[in-house]
Amino acid sequence: MRMLLKDGKMKVLTLSYDDGVVQDARLVEIMSKYGLKGTFNINSGMEFAEEYIRRIFRKTLSTEDAKSLYLNSGNEVAIHSLTHPHLEVLSEEEIIYEITEDRRNIEKDYGVIAKGMAYPFGTYNETVVEILKRCGIVYSRTVNSTYGFEFPENWLLLNPTCHHNCEKLIELVEKFVETKYSFPKMFYLWGHSYEFDENDNWEVIEKFAEFVGNRDDIWYATNMEIYEYVKAYNNLVVSIDRKIVHNSSSVDVWFLHQDKKYCARCGETIYL
Ligand SMILES: [Zn+2]
Repeated sequence: MRMLLKDGKMKVLTLSYDDGVVQDARLVEIMSKYGLKGTFNINSGMEFAEEYIRRIFRKTLSTEDAKSLYLNSGNEVAIHSLTHPHLEVLSEEEIIYEITEDRRNIEKDYGVIAKGMAYPFGTYNETVVEILKRCGIVYSRTVNSTYGFEFPENWLLLNPTCHHNCEKLIELVEKFVETKYSFPKMFYLWGHSYEFDENDNWEVIEKFAEFVGNRDDIWYATNMEIYEYVKAYNNLVVSIDRKIVHNSSSVDVWFLHQDKKYCARCGETIYL
């Protein structure tokens, strides 16, 4: 058996944008126009952040505006720590507080279960990763570009393909779109939408979205939708003779078996 992606596709594309800034409104508009989806990583307690962090921080959306913007467009809200510190320099207690308080606030304010994350400043160490696990976080995005399209081995070290300012962006996305793959591939773009204002380069994301969006062979998904899908595939229950497959998850799963495409709907048992 070999995993396929949603609707039997071989490619998925996702975005991840940080800090909940006002420019996300324009970004979401572009994403929606071209059918792209992604994840927005929010700090819910910036008023308690250290002075030097608050000074470098950009204008953020109100919780009310953020909620309607992200959720009405089908995007995901994930955590980014309470006050955006460098987590790896904090005590274990402080790390736990930063994660669980951000989860608690976001879950209460947005009415979602928030188990996804992006590392503030992209920095972490082994202790941070270990604590994330214990706080129920299932994936966390780094800022380490892979310039590739592989799924992560460790979802708590979820490395993106590249940042939107990467000089190879067009080359990479053309390769992703034009290549016929035999195994599922993921294009993962990250950034901050305020950078488009500061660098006066909104055309970067507009051209990217126009080129890669609205294609039949690409699944456009949030980070969590991809995580949940891969988990559901990995959790398929298979009989000893490999002829009966049961999908106990809440998402439909597609796979290849002896070159034939199958779909096991959520909760369904199928006979190959
Ligand atoms: Zn950030």
